[in-house]
Amino acid sequence: MSNDRIIAVEEHFATRRYLEAAAELDVWSGDELEMAQMRGPFLAPWMIERLGNLEARLAVMDESGTDLAVLSLNPPGVQPYEPVAAATALVESANEEMAEAVRRHPDRFAGLGAVAPQDPDHAAREIDRIMGPLGLAGLMICSHTRGLYLDDPCYEPLLAAAEEHGATIYLHPRYPSAQMIAPYRDYGMVAAVWGYQADAGTHAVRLILSGVLDRHPRLRFVLGHLGEGLPLWMQRLDNRYAFAYEAAAADLGMVKLELTPSEYLLRNFAVTTSGMDDPEALAFVLGRVGEDNVLFAVDYPYEDSNAATRFLCDAELTDAQRAKISHANAERLFRGLLS
Ligand code: MN
Repeated sequence: MSNDRIIAVEEHFATRRYLEAAAELDVWSGDELEMAQMRGPFLAPWMIERLGNLEARLAVMDESGTDLAVLSLNPPGVQPYEPVAAATALVESANEEMAEAVRRHPDRFAGLGAVAPQDPDHAAREIDRIMGPLGLAGLMICSHTRGLYLDDPCYEPLLAAAEEHGATIYLHPRYPSAQMIAPYRDYGMVAAVWGYQADAGTHAVRLILSGVLDRHPRLRFVLGHLGEGLPLWMQRLDNRYAFAYEAAAADLGMVKLELTPSEYLLRNFAVTTSGMDDPEALAFVLGRVGEDNVLFAVDYPYEDSNAATRFLCDAELTDAQRAKISHANAERLFRGLLS
């Protein structure tokens, strides 16, 4: 076991009160498949227990050598819920419950606040609270909301608030949006097998190619699953962006960017090891995005904490790389994680 402090940054949380309140709400029509499949198992007693029981979680953290868990509301947060006023009320109480958990165990837990992008002005005000009185470490946004991605102009207030506060956004996957879900409905592809990566990777490429990061150069995003495929695509994104722009920029709805696509990936994104205990993939991604842009994560309770920390400790890394991935990069990108 490594002596490094270990911080895990994609660790899901929900209280029984939150889950029961959420189950009473309506769901946006485009998200009905996702919610039909998620509401059942997520209200099962074992799942409520794993998401909400902090003492049981602390025991798993102790066994696996995890020093600090950065909590986040169980995906997809409040983003599918209707009406908007119910979603905003629910996210406020969820953030307060998370802040209370962090206050009870400040040396073991930190938290990424949630927002309801359905109401971008409310989301901006909630970011003020998350990074202000609630004292949380950053944000998690579960990809699209009502089929819109964060490059949509309606989200300017949300992005401006995150940038102003230096609130790093963990961009977590969810089922593909209503516009793209059809071919993912079969063969179990819709969620972690393939759909999550397709959804979150697409979302990140939209952020890069839309010019949002020229307007908000200090925004920082974190992608799970070793970058949702993007590190493999850096050379091709740059090459084909330049080719397509030259050939048919106007026809393709392309934006003139200040940087190459891969330069945004390096400047505005970091990646985590959540759910990707693959030594060769880690070595490749480290070479592509650099040792300052890789963070450790488990994805509790959906992945095995012991296997994840064992993977981290056994990985072929220099001492400096291991320290950065284990804790130092998280301490730099999220607020208030220093011990
Ligand atoms: Mn997750």
